[in-house]
Amino acid sequence: MKITRYKRAQRHLLFYRNYFDFRPPYQIILDATFCQAALKNKINIKEQIPKYLNDDVKLLTTVCVVNETERLGHSIYGAMLVIKQFPIHKCGHEKNPISANDCIFSLLQRKEEHYFLATQDQDLTERTRSLAYVPILFIKTNTIILEQPAVEAKDKAIESQQRFHQVDSHQFQTLKKLKKIESLDKPAHVKRKRKGPKGPNPLSCKKKKSVAPNKASSNTNVAVKQDGKKKRTRTKRIPNHIKRMFQKIESDLSLKQQSSSS
Ligand SMILES: [Zn+2]
Repeated sequence: MKITRYKRAQRHLLFYRNYFDFRPPYQIILDATFCQAALKNKINIKEQIPKYLNDDVKLLTTVCVVNETERLGHSIYGAMLVIKQFPIHKCGHEKNPISANDCIFSLLQRKEEHYFLATQDQDLTERTRSLAYVPILFIKTNTIILEQPAVEAKDKAIESQQRFHQVDSHQFQTLKKLKKIESLDKPAHVKRKRKGPKGPNPLSCKKKKSVAPNKASSNTNVAVKQDGKKKRTRTKRIPNHIKRMFQKIESDLSLKQQSSSS
């Protein structure tokens, strides 16, 4: 398997995964023409398709396809044996089978089922391309190929993206309106009611001084101003090192006096 072919397939798969929400296991509808080409090119469908898509697959066919292949008889006898190996998918025509192409096309129209198509039939391929969201597998020069997404598919992908964004902006506008309505119902300025006991927090308040103004501490003098307000003034404290220095001088002096008297 060539790396370029494999990489190209992965790129196409990514497109279908991103824009049309395809997820493994991929459901692949096979017809007799694909089985005939696989037989002719000695391709093992069961092995090669999962290997090429690098994921799990469900290979399916329908009762209408099998019926038509049986009717064609010996000309495609080998293809008939190959197609009968795959599980029969319910198509809704079990009682009254229709042509293989019409049956497959009716299935492919169910977009939400995310079917792949594997065919060599040109008419069916053309019809399927018009749907734009169906990945198409075909056989060319002994290899399975996933067709490049059609221009219509890319256009549809862009369209669906735009639709998504439109819906998104619409939702945004609706949300905006709802918010506006909600804010109108509420008064503009509502003060929050304070819970708990009223008055200032007792823990954050200073204790009231029970000391009378004439019994002030040694460090503070309380003077009464003319307007009756109290004014606090601080007395300067003598630093300890100076106190110690004076004490030393005093003791030295007393020692000198004692020595002179004796
Ligand atoms: Zn059918």
